[in-house]
Amino acid sequence: MKHLLVVLLFVFYLGGNAQTDQRLYDIIEAVSAERIAKDIETLANFGTRHTLSDTLSQTRGIGAARRWIKADFERTSAACNGCLEVSYQKNLVPKGDNDRITKDVWVVNVLAVKRGTKYPNRYIIMSGDIDSRVSDPNNFTSDSPGANDNASGMAGTLEAARVLSKYDFENSILFVGLSGEEQGLYGGKGLAAHAMEQGWDIIGIFNNDMIGNITGVDGVVSNTDFRIFSEPVPPTETERERKARRFYGGEVDGISRQLARYIYRNVRTYMPEMNPMLVYRLDRFGRGGHHRPFNDVGFAGIRIMEAHENYTQQHQDIRTENGIEYGDVLRHVNFEYAKKLTAVNAINLASIAWAPPAPTEVKIGGIVQPSAKFQWSPVEGAVGYKIYWRDTTSPTWDYSRYVGDATEYTLDGIVIDNYFFGVSSVGKDGFESPVVFPNGIFR
Ligand SMILES: [Zn+2]
Repeated sequence: MKHLLVVLLFVFYLGGNAQTDQRLYDIIEAVSAERIAKDIETLANFGTRHTLSDTLSQTRGIGAARRWIKADFERTSAACNGCLEVSYQKNLVPKGDNDRITKDVWVVNVLAVKRGTKYPNRYIIMSGDIDSRVSDPNNFTSDSPGANDNASGMAGTLEAARVLSKYDFENSILFVGLSGEEQGLYGGKGLAAHAMEQGWDIIGIFNNDMIGNITGVDGVVSNTDFRIFSEPVPPTETERERKARRFYGGEVDGISRQLARYIYRNVRTYMPEMNPMLVYRLDRFGRGGHHRPFNDVGFAGIRIMEAHENYTQQHQDIRTENGIEYGDVLRHVNFEYAKKLTAVNAINLASIAWAPPAPTEVKIGGIVQPSAKFQWSPVEGAVGYKIYWRDTTSPTWDYSRYVGDATEYTLDGIVIDNYFFGVSSVGKDGFESPVVFPNGIFR
């Protein structure tokens, strides 16, 4: 009897409804705080990585830093039989483009692609930034270690590439070091334009900017809290879409928000010790980050960062004033915390890269009826679909129902007016696409 039960459980497990996948736990385990610490130290030791700094020295300035980043991706690639495609992508920004560009400068990003086996042109992206700054944004000679801002995000990206290089994925993963962030988000702008030109199908970007500080200027110390910033709806939406929202909802359900919720759910499942905070805004109040240029052209993108910032350790000349030590130096970075946020990225990159595409069309019906109804376009490679819903005031997808290999479904007894809904596709290993908010109506 006991044996029969074990066999039955095993059969159920193979039935494609597994709740967790051991590989994601292995990925969390494999992320190394020591390697991240070493890389942050190496990056900080380039003296300055200011976008306008020296490019010829082998030891100081952004040129040396980007060559080292490229070499590091190449070392990772060499260890997996050349599994990464490593390259530069660059744009010339002319002097005076804004007041932080005081001379002509090549803004150079460093890219490493783990090419997808099934969908080579579909990309999920993890980014960190190469460049740093001190108090004066145009000072490109003073020491500017940028240990947390943003050697931490860059080192996390290098480490995620090492860990995920051991696996094959259906979708492509792009690991990228972006430059020109502090001068006006130039690296992101350049890469987003490049992606448009090349016709990349971008699932989304995880912008990692400051993932190493646990001691906040607010006095809070937490090595578990972190933030996921996402804008409500894309700025590229049409007037028609904007008008439709008044009647059908979707004010807080754009593609970037769905990506944020995806990460939130995965972290709750696989890293329950962490406390992800969904922040319902593009970025910090009035401040910028490198996911924005991707959002600007209609791609999904979110920012992952520490929850408690310390402003005496960002964008500061290194100095002591009234007993306060200013400067973004190595000793303020918590490497164990940077490791955790790197793992957050890695499990979500892997989940999305193993998942089928999301359904492109999702229609909802059920006006003045006792049940909500759904129709969606079939996805090649999906073994089934999942309908999600939540109270209209809830930030997260709290209810779900797996409905198997169907293209329509009726949720009996669930009244359309009282919830928000979405549909995801599910692959053979149980990995899911981000949720799609309905983009059509039927009667
Ligand atoms: Zn910064």
